[in-house]
Amino acid sequence: MQEKRSDSTLEIKNLNISFIQGEKEANALRGISLSLKRNEVHSLVGESGSGKTVTSTCIMGLLPTPPGRINSGQIILNDQDLLLLEEKDQRQIRGKEIAMVFQEPARYLNPTLKVGDQITEMLILHLGMGKGEALDRALEIFDLVGLDGGKRILDSYPHELSGGMKQRIMIAIAISCNPAFLIADEPTTALDVTLQLQILKLILSLKNTLDMGILFISHDLRVVHDISDWVSVIYAGRIVESASREKLFSDPKHPYTRLLLESIPDADKRGKRLQTIPGKVPDAEDIPGGCAFHTRCPLAEDICKTVQPETKEVGEGHSHTTACHFIGKQWKQWKN
Ligand code: SF4
Repeated sequence: MQEKRSDSTLEIKNLNISFIQGEKEANALRGISLSLKRNEVHSLVGESGSGKTVTSTCIMGLLPTPPGRINSGQIILNDQDLLLLEEKDQRQIRGKEIAMVFQEPARYLNPTLKVGDQITEMLILHLGMGKGEALDRALEIFDLVGLDGGKRILDSYPHELSGGMKQRIMIAIAISCNPAFLIADEPTTALDVTLQLQILKLILSLKNTLDMGILFISHDLRVVHDISDWVSVIYAGRIVESASREKLFSDPKHPYTRLLLESIPDADKRGKRLQTIPGKVPDAEDIPGGCAFHTRCPLAEDICKTVQPETKEVGEGHSHTTACHFIGKQWKQWKN
């Protein structure tokens, strides 16, 4: 795992994506910008249907077009816009520079191929290894992800292994080519609590060992709190707040972030009624005008219905941004 990798940041700039269905156009992403640095976990958090998976799918070049359409934006890695590359060059970058793990290993692992064939295929294709060298490397990677009995696993089909092992194998295949960036899309959502903790620990240790940047996609703020360096909150295809983990959890500025935080169950809230956010994320083909959150926001005023708030810097050091007309408005006004 010593190959020299790029030092660069992965930058997503002003990404606008729609889905076309007949006469209808659904605006899935509306100007998403975020950057991913090496050895950092940047979490993208929001409710289902907010645009998280469209973002990861597009970064990986897996967006089906049609019905998807990239209207504008850039995904910059090593001074190259990945969206302008030929498909074969994109394929080369996928897996080698940027890899992805999914919620369901079944979506990723081929049930008809032995695990050994699946992991060595990546190493042969992307790193030009011979079969023997690839098998040796696969065993090293299994050690790295905490998989015992490597030779037996290489000779197994996915269905012969437990859920936790399959999750580790998916991670092993994803990191096999020593990617600079890993996209982890709800990788622990389908797991029980014990396995969830193990996989989160593994992701954090791989971030440090391999100096990887991780885009961690989740709807679960408790998990996001435990794993992130940086957090961006997405609502109806737009990032509404972005800050360091400490800032976002201690001093959230956007009403949506505040409500998400209030809906986290924790020990202090035992016996108390849990706050839930009224309403639901709007469908992508029916996003309200102005601030898309105005239909659910307790602080909304008339301007919110017609004027989309700009993203502004708040606090010191230009490191905390949010998109709301009333950043200074007292939350207490609503709480009381
Ligand atoms: Fe709420 Fe208005 Fe701020 Fe949107 S702009 S979050 S509706 S107060």
